[in-house]
Amino acid sequence: MTKPENIQIDTSPPVSDEIRQTTCYMCACRCGINVHMKDDQIVYIEGNRDHPVNKGVLCGKGSSGIMQHLAPSRLRNPMKRVGERGSGEFEEISWDEALDIAAGWLGPIRDSDPKKLALFTGRDQSQSFTGWWAQNYGTPNYAAHGGFCSVNMAAGGIYTMGGAFWEFGQPDWDRTKLFVLFGVAEDHDSNPIKIGLGKVKANGAKVVGVNPIRSGYNAIADEWYGITPGTDGLFIPALIHELMRAGKI
Ligand code: SF4
Repeated sequence: MTKPENIQIDTSPPVSDEIRQTTCYMCACRCGINVHMKDDQIVYIEGNRDHPVNKGVLCGKGSSGIMQHLAPSRLRNPMKRVGERGSGEFEEISWDEALDIAAGWLGPIRDSDPKKLALFTGRDQSQSFTGWWAQNYGTPNYAAHGGFCSVNMAAGGIYTMGGAFWEFGQPDWDRTKLFVLFGVAEDHDSNPIKIGLGKVKANGAKVVGVNPIRSGYNAIADEWYGITPGTDGLFIPALIHELMRAGKI
């Protein structure tokens, strides 16, 4: 019988016959990922150690991208509603048919005045393409989810501290002395923030969390304030008011 110390266990057996390098689209920071393929199917996703954004770190949402890709509910072809609105009855149609229908709607508007088209694309994660399409159509009236979410945060971050999150740069983690987090959705930009929080903690900076629940980032905060949901919008101006009253800003 082979002695236990002589048994060789391969803890990293090859799981794929091809690795494709791309970026994760499960949130907006676009971590680098290695997508393992076997027989042309995705079998495993791992972080790319050479990618500057995540340096190999992959969050749970990123690794579960495989579930989104393989989900039975994923749209694979254009769908046309065939029942009453709201009945949920659709049928798959070809791309040619879908494009003919779309051209039938969009052509006459473009011929009369393309600015009559307002295009809102929701959280499509490809706003550079949809914006480019709208510009070529001839309408300035296009928007997407980012306009009332990340873009405002990015503008505030860039104007105040020189960077924000996701594709809008980073806070200056190396020189940060105090890092205050208000109500952060931890599934957003999670790998760069985790790496940044590691840096500020290692540099001895203070981390303050303001969040109704003490999970994730707030668990490693030096101070945590379990604010009542919906009152942080009052708390921030009150803080500014007190700082001004004390002559600190
Ligand atoms: S933080 Fe997670 S979900 Fe977002 S891009 Fe990176 S791996 Fe994907």
